[in-house]
Amino acid sequence: MKYIKNYINGQLIAPVLDEHIENIDPSRGKVYSMIPDSNQQDVENAVIAAEAAFSAWSNTPKDERAAIMIKIADIIESRLDQFAAAESLDNGKPVSLASHVDIPRAVSNLKFFATAIQHYASESHNMEGQGINYTLRKPIGIVGCISPWNLPLYLFTWKIAPAIAAGNCVIAKPSEVTPMTAFMLSEVCAEAGLPKGVLNIVHGLGHKVGDAMTKHPKIKAISFTGGTNTGATIAKIAAPMFKKLSLELGGKNPNIIFADCDFDKALSTTIRSSFANQGQICLCGSRIFIERPIYEKFKAVFVAKVEKSKVSYPSDPEAKLGAVVSQPHMEKVLSYIELAKEEGGTVLTGGHQVKLEGEYSEGYYIRPTIIEGLAYDCRTNQEEIFGPVVTITPFDTEEEVLKMANSTQYGLASTVWTENLRKAHRVANEIDAGIVWVNSWLVRDLRTPFGGVKNSGVGREGGFEALRFFTEPKNVFIQN
Ligand code: NDP
Repeated sequence: MKYIKNYINGQLIAPVLDEHIENIDPSRGKVYSMIPDSNQQDVENAVIAAEAAFSAWSNTPKDERAAIMIKIADIIESRLDQFAAAESLDNGKPVSLASHVDIPRAVSNLKFFATAIQHYASESHNMEGQGINYTLRKPIGIVGCISPWNLPLYLFTWKIAPAIAAGNCVIAKPSEVTPMTAFMLSEVCAEAGLPKGVLNIVHGLGHKVGDAMTKHPKIKAISFTGGTNTGATIAKIAAPMFKKLSLELGGKNPNIIFADCDFDKALSTTIRSSFANQGQICLCGSRIFIERPIYEKFKAVFVAKVEKSKVSYPSDPEAKLGAVVSQPHMEKVLSYIELAKEEGGTVLTGGHQVKLEGEYSEGYYIRPTIIEGLAYDCRTNQEEIFGPVVTITPFDTEEEVLKMANSTQYGLASTVWTENLRKAHRVANEIDAGIVWVNSWLVRDLRTPFGGVKNSGVGREGGFEALRFFTEPKNVFIQN
């Protein structure tokens, strides 16, 4: 049995109490490795290491910091297949997805912020006749990064890369459900020569390790991605301590399909935006609104195509969907399908667990599910399910669809399909969301602001927004 280790002060070590929790392979429903069940003392040790490393790291020239980050990225890239296989085993996602999306994007995160820091500049403000202000952007010190299980290495590096590029030292906690690629990253960091203490990875449970990080007075900022309720718990603790907070939270994203769309493109992308990663992407469009003139046609082809999507074990090259991440999560998703039926919905396809054969018979598989006939404001259409379940709803006017689209507590992402440019601009402007994709989905330019409005989060990640988050501005005025 493989034992994952913490990465503290440049060393791979067992947790202080040497206690562990089981890590389950969701495709087989079997324990396959053990994770440190770390506690407050492990976090304390990580903070001590980070504190000792901060002065040297924050004074290391930017291009030297960048060179180490590029080296880390290059090593991951050279082992892409190993990382993709590990991500898939840990999370249940198809290997093809991990090797085309998760791991390449993790590599891009490291490369992007390694180079972004070299282009980052602070401002100066001239006051005619009086003097000049210039603003220094200094690293915060020790920062905490907490990430979820759905895109494990991708979201972990999305936080760590800007934090260390800006000169901070980091205490990071991956989700306890998917720790493996974070562990592999720690091995790579040691190999690439990242100075000890700059990045410390403490594995364990959210309510122990995550809570200890949030409460630690020396961790001055928390960058968190996860559920809205967890975000609220963290904010309650961190806000009175005046910590900087970046919260990327849940979503219930609308996918609005107008009758004048490019039908085939809207259809093929909607299949991906509904069910990629088993629907476990915070950006998936789980509420699909279809303009009435094409509703029946779109529904028929959408259902027919999804019925052909293969649900299979992650290493099956033909798998379109793998396993969902855990048994409790599978049960939660299935319970929402039951709720949808109680609320009057009709399941057009899917709606049940899938039992594979042989070694995968205990895995957590769900057929991709399409439901119609629900009110836009019922629980199924308001609460985040975060699985392979979408609803379809017809609409007649722009005003009506905007009302339905904007009706949830969330406002993360949205998708709009139309060939009418004016309509695209109008609707994009009116949707309550931090991200709008027109005639596309999941296109990412790492320079753009990323994040949500309403209960989908506070703050923005991406590009210089992330570097601004991980630095403190200090204004200096020089009198003429
Ligand atoms: P959780 O909120 O359950 O967990 C996220 C992370 O927080 C995990 O590492 C978790 O540890 C940790 N955690 C749990 N409790 C605490 C606590 N009290 N204090 C500090 N940390 C804690 O989310 P999930 O992992 O279930 O991820 C799914 C959610 O993430 C969905 O709601 C999804 O929408 C959201 N998400 C948002 C994204 C965005 O960019 N807005 C992107 C991706 C996902 P542990 O695993 O041990 O519980």
